Amino acid sequence: MSLEEKSKYTQQAREVWNTYLTAAPSQPPKPKKQTKLVTRCSPGRLLNVIQRLTSEQKEAVKNMGFGGLLDLRCRTLRRSLCLWLLERFDTRKCCLKICGHCIPLHPKDVEHVMGLASDGKEVINSGPGDVISDLRLSYNATNHGISVHNLEEKLLIPEAGEDFKRSFILYALGTLISPTARLDVSPSFLHFLTNIDVIHQFNWGKFLLDRLVREVSRFQQRKQHAVGGCLLFLQLFYYENVSVDGTKAPCPTTIPCLSFWGEDEINQREKREKQLGGYGFGYVVCKEQYVNLPLHENPKHRDDLSADRSVQEFEDVSPIDSGVREPKETSKVIDRFSGSAQTSKRCACPLPECSFIGSSEHLSLHFSSKHWDSGRRFQYNSPLSISLSPTDRFLVLQAEEDGKLFVLNKTVESLGFAVMLTRVEPRLFEERFVYDLTVRGRGYSSLRLKSTAENFPGRVEGFPPLDFLLVPLRFIGDSGEISLEVCIWSSEEHGEASS
Ligand SMILES: [Zn+2]
Repeated sequence: MSLEEKSKYTQQAREVWNTYLTAAPSQPPKPKKQTKLVTRCSPGRLLNVIQRLTSEQKEAVKNMGFGGLLDLRCRTLRRSLCLWLLERFDTRKCCLKICGHCIPLHPKDVEHVMGLASDGKEVINSGPGDVISDLRLSYNATNHGISVHNLEEKLLIPEAGEDFKRSFILYALGTLISPTARLDVSPSFLHFLTNIDVIHQFNWGKFLLDRLVREVSRFQQRKQHAVGGCLLFLQLFYYENVSVDGTKAPCPTTIPCLSFWGEDEINQREKREKQLGGYGFGYVVCKEQYVNLPLHENPKHRDDLSADRSVQEFEDVSPIDSGVREPKETSKVIDRFSGSAQTSKRCACPLPECSFIGSSEHLSLHFSSKHWDSGRRFQYNSPLSISLSPTDRFLVLQAEEDGKLFVLNKTVESLGFAVMLTRVEPRLFEERFVYDLTVRGRGYSSLRLKSTAENFPGRVEGFPPLDFLLVPLRFIGDSGEISLEVCIWSSEEHGEASS
């Protein structure tokens, strides 16, 4: 290319950048953040009622299958924990994405934590209105629901008959098991209270969980300000399944777990969480039901590990015992993927000094256990500030929610540096993540790229033809660093992010 031609292209490129810069907003939209938690789930209210029950009434509660609730000991929810868990609740898969794991929630867990049966008939809270019209009248059900206060008054009467039973169930549902976001107590619950004698035959565990998922999903879609559902279950489930004593062994626990967690126990636990630096720094305890989780979705990965390994062993998989170690240079490992082995489902650890190869799930666990200090943890939909030093060629980013790995790549170009994001995943994997990359210069100037992170089963060596952000030299800091902000959007937010 002649000098004249070159300057023509440089000029054109400059014009394109200038147009782009004037068009791009200088400030990226900040993700919305919920700071307060509004809920009608109130263990303390139910505890007050329980403490006043006569022995006949307690017997009646047990006969209905709600005896586990009588062991309730705590009064308040830990709202910041609940909020933290709500943000990590995947309502489509019904699991909590925490501590590098995806912990599924089952009706059996509700039984374990809350003492409600996890088998039996499905609870159906709908039907023709005339069937419950008498009950609606006797409970003064209005458009706002059945008043919790009225129920409290009814429950003061020391009788243990049908009225008491119905009032107690309504009260327990409305204050703990299935509070809605808006109503006092939903009159639709009257549908399954027409025949109080069969109340013990229902699968209340499934009911609690289904309602929780529904309410959390509505909350996440920001359809409602408040959040319904049994947040106490969510809180205690976390305490029971994430250990903070440095071991991964499940602690011997009382059943239902509800009976173990009084205010003192909760205070102590919260204190420990703080010492560890916040929620999510404990270990997911070894429970058989979680073991196969990452493998379930991709049954072909099962040959990598025997199916009955515990989470603990799973996390400690090293290149040696996984049986897939290949003592090659990392660059060669990467070559292997870019060549004929495109169909391979394995990924290579992005760190050049490490030769681990495994499924992306194994790699996530490997990275968080072996290279904790070598990457940066981030949260989806939230901007992360990063500084790349002159010698940094890449930076590994790991999602707090699900442990997924991304690599921020940097190469030297003639006009400056090229920066782009890839995701560590086999190329054939279909899911794509949208990301924003912003580099700020001096004064008001900033550069921004919105693109999709391509899947690449390891670190990128030499740029494949993907979108990148070209950072001109004048954006480089005094000590040669590039300061940038990266925001990776979760796949659920994809539509919002790309619109
Ligand atoms: Zn490694």
